[in-house]
Amino acid sequence: MPPKKKEGPPKKVLLGRFGTSLKIGIVGLPNVGKSTFFNVLTKSQAAAENFPFCTIEPNENKVPVPDVRYDFLCEFHKPASKVPAFLHVVDIAGLVAGAHDGQGLGNAFLSHIKACDAIFHLCRAFEDEDVTHVDGDINPVRDLDTIFNELRLKDIQYLRTQYNEMEKKTVRGADKKASAELECVGRVLKYLEEEMKPIRHAEWGANDVEVLNKHLLITSKPIIYLVNLSERDYIRKKNKWLVKIKEWIDANDPGATIIPISASLESKLFDMGDEDKEKYLQDVKTTSVLEKVIKTGFHGLQLEYFFTAGKDEVKAWTIQKGTKAPQAAGKIHTDFEKGFIMAEVMKFEDFKELGNENNVKSAGKYRQQGKTYVVEDGDIIFFKFNAGAGLTTKKK
Ligand code: GDP
Repeated sequence: MPPKKKEGPPKKVLLGRFGTSLKIGIVGLPNVGKSTFFNVLTKSQAAAENFPFCTIEPNENKVPVPDVRYDFLCEFHKPASKVPAFLHVVDIAGLVAGAHDGQGLGNAFLSHIKACDAIFHLCRAFEDEDVTHVDGDINPVRDLDTIFNELRLKDIQYLRTQYNEMEKKTVRGADKKASAELECVGRVLKYLEEEMKPIRHAEWGANDVEVLNKHLLITSKPIIYLVNLSERDYIRKKNKWLVKIKEWIDANDPGATIIPISASLESKLFDMGDEDKEKYLQDVKTTSVLEKVIKTGFHGLQLEYFFTAGKDEVKAWTIQKGTKAPQAAGKIHTDFEKGFIMAEVMKFEDFKELGNENNVKSAGKYRQQGKTYVVEDGDIIFFKFNAGAGLTTKKK
């Protein structure tokens, strides 16, 4: 059965890896500003937060997620240790048309994309005669098509190989599970070839999702579109391609987020001192977009965090959206999950408004939540758990 047709923008399905060490990769053609943007994104935030550069690989970095709630809690508690949430970003070298078939350094790069869980698709809308474009002239809509097709064709190529191998091994009727899996892979393949859409746009059943999650297809990954503009266009919020890009996204990836950026402006700001930077931004009447990009990337990975906060430490603990209290406690320590008794939860807004924990308690807004509580982004939590021997209750 083909995937069901639906009205309106496609519903987001939760395809992909589970866990909290998820990565977002910067994807685009060569010379669109990926490395420039990656450098400024990772270094300036690390510098702003006064963190050592969290380089994992030359092209991988962890970027602190900016959050005024976290800043407030740090300011309030003045803790010995501060740990924000991080967005894990990977700079993936440029793709060209035919990459799925090995053009350029195609296949290696596509496997790097496969290892990511969401994508920043960076496209170029800035003109600069000194920076060549692989396809001659500036045309971000054509470029979007190029990348979009490469990703889809790579999934087709990969799935076709999988299908053929599975088919050889599966004696129809003998192994029901293998036959069902083969049928599913065949159906997904047909969808990619005939509908010519990313698989994240279809609604798949629970059994399909299980099969799809074994393969981590590229077109299952959500995309956030970043449009790299010249500084001038970014400041005046105008560029002849913006409307066309929006139309392309509405037609090909409805509901996806699009963020105009200027890698060259951000790079320039990074080289200035804080004061000069503020003055410059005021003079030209604009703001940096880095914080927004990081936050959008983090939420695009379906991640969020709760806080533990006290004099010792203020820490943002990353969880997947929809995580229940015991599993959230398990992020801190497995014992917290095993011996979970309750989560004492304050909403950040209540804490800020009422000024301290006691006032929140007197206002009846300090809530004791049980095993079924779904943790919300920004909750300040105090876990109580049974340590096993005796009935000691420990807290964090
Ligand atoms: P990548 O191949 O996509 O990683 O692109 P790079 O970040 O290496 O940039 C390629 C060239 O374009 C470099 O010479 C950059 O200085 C330049 N470049 C990057 N971003 C911008 C931009 O926003 N405006 C202009 N004019 N040049 C840029």
